Amino acid sequence: MSVLDKFSDPKLCRSLLDRIHAELDGELRFMEVCGTHTVSIFRSGLHSLLPDRVIHLSGPGCPVCVTHESEVAMYLDLASRDDVIVATFGDLMRVPGPGGRNLKAAQADGARVAVVYSPFDAVKLAQANPDAKVVFLGIGFETTAPTVAATIQMAAKAGLDNFHVVSFHKLVPPALRALMADPELRVDALIMPGHVTSIIGPRAYDFLAEEFHLPSVVTGFDPLDILQSLLELVRQKNAGRAEVVNMYTRAVPEEGNPKAMSIMNEIFVPADALWRGIGMIPGSGLEIAPAYERFDAKKVLGLELVDVPPIKGCRCGDVLRGKLTPNKCPLFGKACTPAKPVGPCMVSTEGSCAAYFKYNTEL
Ligand code: SF4
Ligand code: SF4
Repeated sequence: MSVLDKFSDPKLCRSLLDRIHAELDGELRFMEVCGTHTVSIFRSGLHSLLPDRVIHLSGPGCPVCVTHESEVAMYLDLASRDDVIVATFGDLMRVPGPGGRNLKAAQADGARVAVVYSPFDAVKLAQANPDAKVVFLGIGFETTAPTVAATIQMAAKAGLDNFHVVSFHKLVPPALRALMADPELRVDALIMPGHVTSIIGPRAYDFLAEEFHLPSVVTGFDPLDILQSLLELVRQKNAGRAEVVNMYTRAVPEEGNPKAMSIMNEIFVPADALWRGIGMIPGSGLEIAPAYERFDAKKVLGLELVDVPPIKGCRCGDVLRGKLTPNKCPLFGKACTPAKPVGPCMVSTEGSCAAYFKYNTEL
């Protein structure tokens, strides 16, 4: 058995499951902040093996899903400009904006939209197209922001004046603080995102224990990781304890990644940001720092956010706040499917609605 196989070893999983069944006292409502945990829980079948009293709620952990409808409208508007090439990761192509329009449709109508696999490809695109302004759509959390920051540094070194980034980057801790302060949210504990924490370090969540008395665990994505974390949460809850525990030490150093943080902090400054379903959260986004504003698409191209009504009937906002499981949305599996998504949670591979649909859960 390889080291990796051990993280899904059926015997170890069974014994952890037995412990959870035996020790769980009452109900455990936990939020998995990261979209990839949601997918792992379904793919491994854990949701059907856990006690019914373990209730898992999705959180705001998919960068595509939390991109606000006004931000989608902004980049769709940008794509309609003749002098602009929009460079984006593929997962934004099908996210519906106003009137159900998306980047794929804009591209089919002649907009210059290029799917890139890395923001560095967008720099190459700018070098190859000196006649156009290449705008990279910067979405994602602390996981992706350092790479985008490094890309801006690279463009600065290359002296490029036609490469810009529209920053919709978002920060996880301020969003969690805003969510946990919501008196309607019923969460007992949290499973924290592994990748984000590998950058910011687990101590960034200490406020969850100190201010909200919520146990939380940073964990990996294999079944054993998740089960170990759930058992830890059950034990903390039973004992009335609240601590932030790092159970993913093989990937998440205690101090995070200071180098990545330093690049991010050089290029970006914190700013208020709009989150789908949550609204404006102070200090939860990243704007390009004044010293690099020539790379800031919002400033250089005069982009403004406009009010856009939420998608009719779509409950993504409630799903992202842990208030609704996707299959309780009236459109789920009927008007809204991965082939014809109404909202972003059905588009993204990390989206909760897509995970529920793919694994056909009755939960
Ligand atoms: S970027 Fe990483 S931590 Fe964030 S949602 Fe995706 S998988 Fe989870
Ligand atoms: S099922 Fe579709 S419409 Fe409903 S919340 Fe999910 S993405 Fe939105």
